Amino acid sequence: MVPLKKSICIIGSGIAGLHLAYALKEDFDVTVIERHTTEEIRSGRIMSTQVHFGSTRKRENRFNMPNWGEQSLIESIHITIGNQKLFAGMLQEPALSVDQRLYYTHSMKDLAEKGVSFRVEKVDKERAEALLDTFDLVIDCTGKNGPLFPFPIEPKLSPFPTPQRKCIVGYFTGIQANDPLGVSVTVLPGLGEMFEIPALTEQGPVTILFLMAIQNTELDAFKGITNAEVFTRKMSDAVQKFFPDVYKRLDVETFKLSDEKSFLQTAVTPVIRKPYLMVDEKLVVGCGDSVFLNDPITGQGCNLSSFCAEQLYETLIEFKHSKWDEEIGKSYWNRTKQYVTEVTEWTNAMTEPLPEHVVQLLLQGAQDQVKANQIAQWFANPTKAFEAFFSRLNV
Ligand SMILES: Cc1cc2nc3c(=O)[nH]c(=O)nc-3n(C[C@H](O)[C@H](O)[C@H](O)COP(=O)(O)OP(=O)(O)OC[C@H]3O[C@@H](n4cnc5c(N)ncnc54)[C@H](O)[C@@H]3O)c2cc1C
Repeated sequence: MVPLKKSICIIGSGIAGLHLAYALKEDFDVTVIERHTTEEIRSGRIMSTQVHFGSTRKRENRFNMPNWGEQSLIESIHITIGNQKLFAGMLQEPALSVDQRLYYTHSMKDLAEKGVSFRVEKVDKERAEALLDTFDLVIDCTGKNGPLFPFPIEPKLSPFPTPQRKCIVGYFTGIQANDPLGVSVTVLPGLGEMFEIPALTEQGPVTILFLMAIQNTELDAFKGITNAEVFTRKMSDAVQKFFPDVYKRLDVETFKLSDEKSFLQTAVTPVIRKPYLMVDEKLVVGCGDSVFLNDPITGQGCNLSSFCAEQLYETLIEFKHSKWDEEIGKSYWNRTKQYVTEVTEWTNAMTEPLPEHVVQLLLQGAQDQVKANQIAQWFANPTKAFEAFFSRLNV
């Protein structure tokens, strides 16, 4: 007789939940509970920006996730400090940014067609506990709205009591792409940063402008704006004033939001938690932002969620036929802790003024294309960034 597959409930179908569902669906009986319908997500507000670097795209491939083709592939990272463009470093493997509204809904429909059960429900804490009785394992993938379970905070990795930046994001048309096509990072010391990201949406290619403003500075100029036209005008003014390199490529006549809901303002208080817990002698694990929530400043959230999803998958496969208890949770945390620490410490450092030795490395990148390429790789392989910031090794 074929043994029954263990049952897993994933709460939340964001990056973490989706990567897990694809990875786990062959070996386990997977149910995903998501508070929004696909139609609500598709026609709703943008949720984020996102750049899936090479290792994340390899995992998407490994788990047979949807393929987004070759359009808008991101080849490079452009770095500017103040008004000084330093370099464009080439990535070793192309990256891709797909609007999460499109990525999530397409993946949810595809998974449902492949036999994964979906339920639409906003799970509360009581209900989350009740799910423990029904499933062999519950995985909390509720993102920054979560967690639903009290995973303990790791104080050393969670130094900030408040957000370090205001996040101001719009998806626009009317900007000529940079060359080579890439993410442009502009650091304005004392004010914040701007990320320009080429992305794919349901409407076609767009340019994301993502301002990270230090609170109560001149860049923090969008307070209270909820109207799309006012937001667009304000963004055009901010680009003209602070980001002349981008403004040169902005066509004032055609510059507009790609749709009426393609803008958002938010702020994130970073917090890292131990991603497992015993509740009434049953193991619960967390994956993605629900347990590893960093400031978006280094663009690692999706990539870290995907990395941890793969590590959780590997853990569950390794112990597929054992009892799932606290040891499984420990094993998952042992597999992820070092990488989570490196991403988090680098990200937290990026919210502070850049250390002098890092500024010197960036200046070297302006003189030396090999160095520039190595710095671009920090974003694709944050372990390299961690070493450059903290080990004082050359990149
Ligand atoms: C402004 C901004 C910019 C960012 N830029 C980048 C970037 O450039 N690159 C990058 O890699 N990362 C970026 N991030 C981070 C990235 O968006 C997240 O790390 C990533 O989406 C985390 O995935 P997740 O699955 O953990 O959570 P989410 O993507 O938030 O998904 C969580 C899911 O759970 C569902 N859910 C929540 N609560 C419940 C509940 N109670 N019941 C049922 N369902 C529930 C939600 O509806 C959602 O679908 C950015 C984030 C922000 C806010």
